[in-house]
Amino acid sequence: MQIEFAGAAREVTGSCHIVRANGRTVLLDCGLFQGHRRDADAKNRVMPCPVDEIDAVVLSHAHLDHSGRLPLLTSRGYSGPIYATKATTELCAIMLADSARIQEHDYLFLTRHQRPAAPPLYELKDSARVEEQMRSRPLHEWFDVAPGIRVRYTDAGHILGSTSVIVEATEGGKMSRLIFSADVGRTGLPIIRDPEPPIDPADLVIMESTYGNRDHESVAAARDHLARVIRETSARGGRVLIPAFAVGRAQEIVYDLHVLTRAGQIPATPIVIDSPLATAATAVFEKNVDLYDQSEAPVRDLKALFQFESLTHTTTADESKALNTRIGPMIIIAGSGMAEGGRILHHLLHGASNPRNTILIVGFQAEHTLGRRIVEKQRELRVLGELVELRAQVEILNGYSAHADRTELARWLDAVRKTSPNLRQVCLVHGEPPAQDALTEQLAAKGYVVSSPAPHSKVTL
Ligand SMILES: [Zn+2]
Repeated sequence: MQIEFAGAAREVTGSCHIVRANGRTVLLDCGLFQGHRRDADAKNRVMPCPVDEIDAVVLSHAHLDHSGRLPLLTSRGYSGPIYATKATTELCAIMLADSARIQEHDYLFLTRHQRPAAPPLYELKDSARVEEQMRSRPLHEWFDVAPGIRVRYTDAGHILGSTSVIVEATEGGKMSRLIFSADVGRTGLPIIRDPEPPIDPADLVIMESTYGNRDHESVAAARDHLARVIRETSARGGRVLIPAFAVGRAQEIVYDLHVLTRAGQIPATPIVIDSPLATAATAVFEKNVDLYDQSEAPVRDLKALFQFESLTHTTTADESKALNTRIGPMIIIAGSGMAEGGRILHHLLHGASNPRNTILIVGFQAEHTLGRRIVEKQRELRVLGELVELRAQVEILNGYSAHADRTELARWLDAVRKTSPNLRQVCLVHGEPPAQDALTEQLAAKGYVVSSPAPHSKVTL
């Protein structure tokens, strides 16, 4: 078995690993590169390998940095199966369509303003084709993806439907196995179950390393921190603006706001989900209550988790813009998660210079994104082409991260090693170099052989 690291190598986006065995080629993920717009666009347009070589795609979860180039694959003629869990399939249907719509919209906007614009990476018809080619598979059961190559999923505890992937290849009577962690979640996150490290003995582990150089605050501390930010901002008469990933983070924040509201720990403040995608994703959550971690639900009726008095959803762009003229404290949750697009931009344009407001960062912010510039508290931000002074408070809640921290990653890997006596190496992916280097040092001290492969480098088992 040979593995080529075609994406998320020495960086966090564009997840894609090519597995070649038995004369067959299988892609693990086919994600979008994000960040610096022009660089990312150039990388996105290059296929990880010739499309006619690909026999199957195995998807770990629905986040765009793992799934977002699938429509490009179908637009270039890929007609084979795309395996995923049922919840991932349902989430991808809305997320990839949304991604296609954004690209078509951006292209039309730029050309209408006579600005140079590359054609959209793909269109709605391409994301619709992905939907047709997706095949749902349950957790834990082996399934064949190509002759001599089979796969099974375990729960990665990262977002609804997320998985770690075990790939087994048999060539000439010799069997080899790899475990791809994909994105590993946190223990104790609301709604989402805890990560389940694979127990199949493996020769190689490909592990994410997003937070390889830090520990998060605990989930409970994050909830207290959230309550404090809301109390303080409300007392100032300001707004809390939360750029949030539409899938996962938005639902976890809403869940905790529900808990805090019921417990009387935050004042009655209107909460607005200003993201059609988050609203659609919430509907997918409500269809999959059987997947919830039910040990800590605040209400008996799980379907009512995302329905309470102070919570409203906007649908149209006009409703979203009308929020700017409303007076009084408010909590606005809007995409995109790294403030690179979406409705959060016009809220930042109107709200970032008001010292009464708080911009609450609840997820990882990659290099070269507006979200990262907010985390760095740069004095001026460029938002929708205009310069805005950053005078709002900036609060960072790492406890809501959907990613394991360095201690949790090491614990996950230790659990895998327990059942993998032949584990020879660990390849770190999905991390920026400082995080990878720190994690390498930490894991090497525990006796692991660790590397952080460069883009398109290969490992043979
Ligand atoms: Zn993810």
